[in-house]
Amino acid sequence: MSSQLHVTPVPAKQVPFDDSPTAWMAQGNCRNYPPATFFPSDGVGVDRARAICKGCPVTDKCLEYALEERIEHGVWGGCSERERRRILKRRRGLPA
Ligand code: SF4
Repeated sequence: MSSQLHVTPVPAKQVPFDDSPTAWMAQGNCRNYPPATFFPSDGVGVDRARAICKGCPVTDKCLEYALEERIEHGVWGGCSERERRRILKRRRGLPA
């Protein structure tokens, strides 16, 4: 008599594969908020958006994306438009 173990195969977890350059967006904290939250019209709104970005698992990718794409509006990677302009100036060796 055989003493084989009978193991029921467990289906592999189905994780959609996304290798697009913006796949990281699906992991952002902002996915649970209205997009307008990240396009504030005043400093209070910027602070509110920054608070959501704080602790986001893709902050660095988000900021780099906004800098590389020269996105002018909104809060990306926890940085306001003005902060991103300063970062770009610093990278070009200009006074911020
Ligand atoms: S850093 Fe902010 S804007 Fe960027 S993905 Fe995270 S929550 Fe969204």
